[in-house]
Amino acid sequence: MQKIMAVNAGSSSLKFQLFEMPSETVLAKGLIERIGLKDSVISIKTKEGKKHEQTLDLADHDQAVKMILEFLISLDVVKSLDEITGTGHRVVHGGETFASSALVTEEVLKEIDKLAAFAPLHNKANATGIRSFQEAIPTATTVAVFDTAFHQTMPETSFLYSIPFRYYKEHGIRKYGFHGTSHNYISKETATFMKQDVKDLRIISCHIGNGASICAIKDGKSLDTSMGFTPLEGLTMGTRSGNLDPAVVPYLMEKENLTAAEVIDVFNKQSGLLGISELSSDLRDVTTAAQEGVHQSELALSIFIKRIKETIGAYAVEMGGVDAIVFTAGVGENSAVVRSGAIEGLGFMGVELDEALNQSNENRDSARSISTDASKVQVLIIPTDEEVEIARDVVTVQNEK
Ligand code: ADP
Repeated sequence: MQKIMAVNAGSSSLKFQLFEMPSETVLAKGLIERIGLKDSVISIKTKEGKKHEQTLDLADHDQAVKMILEFLISLDVVKSLDEITGTGHRVVHGGETFASSALVTEEVLKEIDKLAAFAPLHNKANATGIRSFQEAIPTATTVAVFDTAFHQTMPETSFLYSIPFRYYKEHGIRKYGFHGTSHNYISKETATFMKQDVKDLRIISCHIGNGASICAIKDGKSLDTSMGFTPLEGLTMGTRSGNLDPAVVPYLMEKENLTAAEVIDVFNKQSGLLGISELSSDLRDVTTAAQEGVHQSELALSIFIKRIKETIGAYAVEMGGVDAIVFTAGVGENSAVVRSGAIEGLGFMGVELDEALNQSNENRDSARSISTDASKVQVLIIPTDEEVEIARDVVTVQNEK
């Protein structure tokens, strides 16, 4: 038995879960927000249901990490820090360097810093989190788990854009894909649920949250995915536009007197459900308004669903068929409207949804099928758990050491 911490460090926030492995029991989880600002808020909840919430000033990630660890001791979750034998850190961009999780060395940290060119805010914050934990628990194995790593199996035909080849060679412009930790977890859980070897399955994993991406998984490997060079490509998301004609960029720059960076900011933060509905980026709000007949919300919901459906279609064709379509993340796990909309009309592919199961709220926390017995394709809901996947990877790396 050992204790492993899964960490997701942002520029001003830090989320963690402490697991007992191999049982995967969550001993404690928590969140610190507003790091580096006045009134940082720390909240921790333990397995026994003990809660601790406090507002205090935390100047940086080092202080935030020390505070988390002090609380874990005072809440009796651990007696001493060396009980935590490993920490696993979500790192957004692993470029072409990392095709799997990596034991963090000085060299690996340098590489993560270098890859910040592709994801400036994220990788820097992720590296800061790693350094803070290394300093606080020097005895623990530190592992970096990359959002892009699972997609490194994509063939050139999936990851290359149709632009001059030298831009790929010289600048690394290609599709990297994101949400890899989630898609990887989903592929394994799907195989377990279906009692089949993952290598024998063609899976379409739909991770639909605020950020959303779909992954075609064949032979247990990512064959294609909808996010690209950045997480902006692909589906319509909460505030992100997903695909559009790049010629819109210079046109908008001129019409609205914006810089290129400002246009991309609009595509990242003011588009998607929010942009079309002009109401909310939250699917619940948009669904309610759509049901009340508010036209732009109806449109936002329809476009959101259409993009999911067309990507499912594309990936089913690409894989020469599909055995399981899996919905996960905030929207995927909770929105019956989106699931039934995305599956509607796919009868010609042998996909048949059981609407009563789709609407049912039973067994919400576990993997379940929502397709009919006659359906040739299983439609599943599987709650994603990126933190468990991170903790599992830490154990794997520890065993390889
Ligand atoms: P993130 O990408 O930030 O991790 P999540 O996976 O938490 O996002 O998903 C957030 C989205 O899930 C929001 O758009 C929210 O509206 C949606 N969501 C959460 N609960 C429900 C629900 N019960 N019904 C429909 N949508 C929901």
